[in-house]
Amino acid sequence: MRANPQGKSECESGARIRRDFEVSVRSTRHLKRRLVYFGCLLCFLLEHEYENMITVHQSGSAPKRIESQAATARDALEQAQVKSMERIVAVKINGVALDLSAEVPEGAEIEPIYLESDEGLEILRHSTSHVMAMAVRELFPGVKVTIGPAIEDGFYYDFDYERPFRDDDLPAIEKRMQEIVKANLPFERREMTSIEAIHHFEKEGEDYKVELIRDLGQEKVSLYTQGTFTDLCRGPHIPATGKIKAFHLTKIAGAYWRGDEKRPMLSRIYGVAFADRKTLKEHLRRLEEARKRNHARLGPQLDLFSTHEEIGAGMIVWHPKGMMLRHLLEEFEINEHLKRGYEMVKGPQILKTDLWKKSGHFENYRENMYFTTIDEQSYGIKPMNCLSHMLIYGSKIRSYRDLPKRYFELGIVHRHERSGVLHGLLRVREFTQDDAHILCAPEQLNDEIKGVLNFVHDMMGVFHFDYELEISTRPQKSIGSDQDWEIATKALMEAMDESNLAYEINEGDGAFYGPKIDVKLNDALGRKWQCATIQCDFTLPERFDLVYIGKDGEKHRPAMIHRVILGAIERFIGMLIEHYAGAFPVWLAPVQAIILTVTDRNTPFAEKLLGSLRNAGIRVNADLRNEKLGLKVREAQLEKIPYMLIIGDRESEREGMTPRLRSGENLPFMTADEFARKIGEDVKQRR
Ligand SMILES: [Zn+2]
Ligand SMILES: [Zn+2]
Repeated sequence: MRANPQGKSECESGARIRRDFEVSVRSTRHLKRRLVYFGCLLCFLLEHEYENMITVHQSGSAPKRIESQAATARDALEQAQVKSMERIVAVKINGVALDLSAEVPEGAEIEPIYLESDEGLEILRHSTSHVMAMAVRELFPGVKVTIGPAIEDGFYYDFDYERPFRDDDLPAIEKRMQEIVKANLPFERREMTSIEAIHHFEKEGEDYKVELIRDLGQEKVSLYTQGTFTDLCRGPHIPATGKIKAFHLTKIAGAYWRGDEKRPMLSRIYGVAFADRKTLKEHLRRLEEARKRNHARLGPQLDLFSTHEEIGAGMIVWHPKGMMLRHLLEEFEINEHLKRGYEMVKGPQILKTDLWKKSGHFENYRENMYFTTIDEQSYGIKPMNCLSHMLIYGSKIRSYRDLPKRYFELGIVHRHERSGVLHGLLRVREFTQDDAHILCAPEQLNDEIKGVLNFVHDMMGVFHFDYELEISTRPQKSIGSDQDWEIATKALMEAMDESNLAYEINEGDGAFYGPKIDVKLNDALGRKWQCATIQCDFTLPERFDLVYIGKDGEKHRPAMIHRVILGAIERFIGMLIEHYAGAFPVWLAPVQAIILTVTDRNTPFAEKLLGSLRNAGIRVNADLRNEKLGLKVREAQLEKIPYMLIIGDRESEREGMTPRLRSGENLPFMTADEFARKIGEDVKQRR
């Protein structure tokens, strides 16, 4: 065995062995552990390799082989002198995550799990949920516990209590949890037969646990105890509660037992947990920032849109300012498409069900569609815009000289989303796509895909979004031949490679008719959003028998690209609201400037100014109320209007203004013409 790479001196190990030996040997297990140290020393002295040794892996250093008598994983790791023992929360034995107290079989491969690793954090978070359950059980007698998994950034636990938990319950629970953490209670694992475990939980009145054990149908189950609390759990866990350094309880929600509406409604407490306090603080800061930017809150506050129970879930009502924002975005989009050789088209909202059968939507997408019957004829409300575009293509004979055809539609679609996933503007049932279908000769496919990738690049640049790309391949439920799927997938990959773009592969996540490139945006808070997709399709042109006459005078089959750039306008606006925290750049702001009068004396000039600025094409309003200027300014700031034009006596006399930015900065005095030119420049530069 090699010398210790950690630089720990032999004297130190020797002293430890002596100290250990001085302690009386209380059990054979202890004896076994003591012998391990001797085994190791002996091994070192004799430079002898034993068979069935345990191999300890750790990143950044060569695997170490140690004697196999280590009683527990912790012993083995200590013996191998792995680095930073205090940050190890669990271990992998032959690839399976287990407690540090787990026994190590002969010849095992073991690897420490550090607190700050993904697996370590998951174990920490799940263990924190046990601590929360213990605190809740102590503080709220009669509460029944159910399950408490780790989730992204944290954990939750579902409880059945006589009343739902409230936000004001959280501080007491958190305080008790802190005490449990401070007490550094060990997590102790024991196994028992399911029958014994059922008896145990029945005695405790924990009916949900009894149900879980019965459903597991295993002969044996494992239980974990820390302090006063025992939970049914597979583990692993951190060795003791003291490993929990940074957590916070964040919110409460209702959740049905096992997600079943017919079962009891439980009270779910969410928390977050991190390896250290600094990361937790940064996370909480980001949560707070996200809360402030939440479009579902800001949208109605800025009077952009609303939703109404009377209308239906997932349907958005656009108010004047929101509609102006949409109009600006759509106008911008139309111009950008026309510049790039797209033609605008439009199809109807409902199409005969037979046509959806022909396209494969009925077979593959029916559960997301709405149907209606008119004069005993079944119709499907369009969830996609492809069909009309294909009928336009097929309406006359096309020559290779006509290709590519690029049909663009701001197409309204309806898709049935489960009510549970509907969320603000992000998941809705009716939305508008900036949808286009490019029909081209197969040899034009590569250039067309590259053209769309460029388009995406230009558009994302306007909004200062970074993005990442993914290619999604054939899903289980799909149509078309293997060969077509292969050609289409290759076309997407080649276009990406030739454009020098990095991408990830997302297996099995393509559309049912073809593979796709997905564009994921990173917003101002570093969150990812799905928007543009580029899908390559040979199947629908086949099903609709679309052809063009080639140079050879023969009929050929065109390829089709389905693509959106911003995606759903609703969703994109939701993202923009959060990205800009509601403070839209001048070119997109529904109201670019507001005139604020100081006194009624200034009203005549303010009205004149309003007229001339509107004439110049500026989106300007005026607040002529007989209110204090301070109040008017505060309200304009809440509305996040880019410019405030404050009109007092001086401005009225000199027929001009001193614009104030929403940041509070004042610009020099200027005339209406000068201000109009300034706004014009902002719009031109898209800022
Ligand atoms: Zn557990
Ligand atoms: Zn399509």
